[in-house]
Amino acid sequence: MLAAVYKGKKNIEVKDIPKPEIGDNEVLLKVKACSICGTDRKIYEYGHFKIKEKNEQILGHEISGVIEEVGKKVDYYEKGMRIALAPNVGCGFCEVCRKGLEQLCLDYNAFGISWPGGFAEYVKIPEIAVRHGNLVEIPESLSYEEAAVIEPLSCCYNAYESLNVRPGESLLIFGAGPMGILHLILNKHLGIGMTIITDVDEKRLKLSQGFGADYIVKSDSRIKKTIMSLTNGIGVDNIITAASVPEIQEEALELVAINGKINFFAGLPVGKEEIKLNSNIIHYKQLKITGTTGASLKQFRQTVKLSQNAGCNLKKIITKKIGVEELSTIFEDISVFNNNMKIVVSFER
Ligand SMILES: [Zn+2]
Ligand SMILES: [Zn+2]
Repeated sequence: MLAAVYKGKKNIEVKDIPKPEIGDNEVLLKVKACSICGTDRKIYEYGHFKIKEKNEQILGHEISGVIEEVGKKVDYYEKGMRIALAPNVGCGFCEVCRKGLEQLCLDYNAFGISWPGGFAEYVKIPEIAVRHGNLVEIPESLSYEEAAVIEPLSCCYNAYESLNVRPGESLLIFGAGPMGILHLILNKHLGIGMTIITDVDEKRLKLSQGFGADYIVKSDSRIKKTIMSLTNGIGVDNIITAASVPEIQEEALELVAINGKINFFAGLPVGKEEIKLNSNIIHYKQLKITGTTGASLKQFRQTVKLSQNAGCNLKKIITKKIGVEELSTIFEDISVFNNNMKIVVSFER
């Protein structure tokens, strides 16, 4: 099968490798689409602690496909089922997993990181992932390309739940990249009130047009004035920081309304994670600040259900489709990422 094999930092080779063979309790998934995540780009640049130096790996964790083969002892799943694959697999035994937070398990595995991922024609699904239910059936109404975007959307759903967003509330999203836009799509779909999206990058702001934000504003020194004038001086009910910039976490405290909520969605670069925090603002404004990372299996499944509705248009965010053979060079081309929202590796062409 054709696979994009990561061989270390800044080195991906597309080559023919043997198609995986499955055991009696495993499933073989034929990949239909796999979207590129910021995490893939980070691994390409800096490596990952779960991928040992000199070890090869197939990246790609935003995967959809069709079941090609089912092990003799596997129940329920059948050849031909259309699937979105939840990538994170917890140990299943620890306290964190038992709470249903398997994506936070200290002993987790993930397709495209510790296990071979979706930048290949086939992915083997090990028994533990089959049993945990990481293979999630998708409805006919959802294309494979849209289904690949379920994974990042499920991370937004985790943020949405942690903020406990109520219908009609206002929302400010820092960062007009693919994740910022997915937050926008999800919250619009689920009944948010006024939405504002902001970014320092003019090009990103331009790309973010057409996704339904009420206001698209440049993030500069006048941001506080702008936001206050848009909200009659009270600030926004919910803020999501979807860019890895320390300053926006500080700014969020200023821009959020009294009794408002903030989600630190994007992590900060190592060495820049200490921010100036006026904790009295949190206290006297009675704020809730949450952090989220990834999504639980339950949230992933819920995201499949909510995205089958036509009102949740995921097609539009996919602005580029490429073939697997293009993965050896695409990560070197920063402009292609700056000029696009989601880039999906398609195996259907
Ligand atoms: Zn991702
Ligand atoms: Zn665990």
